[in-house]
Amino acid sequence: MVKKILKYLFFSISGFILVALLVLFAPAIWYRWVTYPRFEKQVNEFQKLRKEPAALTKLNTYRGILHAHSYWSHDSEGTLYDIIPAAKYAGIDFIFLTDHPRGNIDTLPRGYKGYYEGVLIEPGSEKQGLLTWPLNSTIIDWNIDKDIVVKNIVSRGGIIFYAHSEEPHNWANQYYQGMEIYNIHTDTKDESLFPHIINFVVNGNKYRHWALREMFDEQTSILALWDSLNIKRKTVGFSAVDAHENQNIRARYLKDGRIEWLGTNANVIDTMEVKFWNKWLFQKPDENGWVFKWMIDSYRTSFNHITNYLLADTLSTTSLADHLKKGHLYTAFKSLGDARGFMYYSMNDRDSISGILGDSIKIDQVKTLNVVSPLPGQFKLIHDGKTVHVSSDENYQYSWSEPIQKGAYRIEMHIKLKGEFIPWLYSNPIYVY
Ligand SMILES: [Zn+2]
Repeated sequence: MVKKILKYLFFSISGFILVALLVLFAPAIWYRWVTYPRFEKQVNEFQKLRKEPAALTKLNTYRGILHAHSYWSHDSEGTLYDIIPAAKYAGIDFIFLTDHPRGNIDTLPRGYKGYYEGVLIEPGSEKQGLLTWPLNSTIIDWNIDKDIVVKNIVSRGGIIFYAHSEEPHNWANQYYQGMEIYNIHTDTKDESLFPHIINFVVNGNKYRHWALREMFDEQTSILALWDSLNIKRKTVGFSAVDAHENQNIRARYLKDGRIEWLGTNANVIDTMEVKFWNKWLFQKPDENGWVFKWMIDSYRTSFNHITNYLLADTLSTTSLADHLKKGHLYTAFKSLGDARGFMYYSMNDRDSISGILGDSIKIDQVKTLNVVSPLPGQFKLIHDGKTVHVSSDENYQYSWSEPIQKGAYRIEMHIKLKGEFIPWLYSNPIYVY
């Protein structure tokens, strides 16, 4: 009798666990075998539609990362061994790092600075919601009032952008030059992480980019805020990957031969002896000494997820910084399609180019607003926060039927995937005054 009850209990508990596991893993398994291969195919077909537009100005387009962390930050272990191959994979030309300072007296430059296998790295700092690249040798005193830090850096030729636009900032400050209009970290904040972790367990190897994409939400309130600021004054919009390569589980040897386990944010979670029963877990140490790695966010996936495209003269800090301040920048979800070649510009009544994205143009120098794009999609023209025109023509042109109105005009491009239009590209506005 007891045997029978035990047998019954055993089968019902195992059955229950099996069903629970199936329910938990079913969506991820479905994605793995049905949804993601389908997306992959659609994206590959979309790439085939690529047509390189002729260059319209003398400026070159450089792909860049404007918010990322390296080993200098307390919550990252990233070194050039991780960062440079990831940049190469994603076609990144420059990385403006934003490492958290190690104290309130912050001496720059520090960490990486210069060209590494052709990738330009400029060190910067992230603290109290500010991203800064002072560009010159500087000591930032983070003890003093934040608005004064902003004023000091900007008046000495440096850059201050606001990070994490979902958080409170002094938007009335007259010195800061730009804000994040997309940040991967911001986007993940509203997600319940458990289903995503299961998705990464199943799809993290082969389809990590789609697993990351699963968290995407259009940042409508942030975009609305950006539009409202641009009515008053130029505010450069850019995207941030905020990559730390730290949402991972990793292990490495300590000097005494034990293993140290690191969890999220590069925090040590445990140390253990290597024994016959756990030895199989650990591989030969890689360049950074890791013997075990299970990754959710990697530089490689982040850098390729969303990318800034900056129009500049040369790949030098001076030229990039100069054009960055001017807002000669658009940003696009690169894993869906590379946007290099895109251009948004205004033409005057003599049919010559009077300005490009980020520029302020006198009203009598504007007859049409135009876009060329290497990939097809839907163009949305947004004037001071209001969509005024939508078109899916091959190349975009807008002319006013009534007298031209002043204000900030920006372009969004949406592409068709999963049977619907999804945001792909955001351009800085042309300011008509
Ligand atoms: Zn950050």
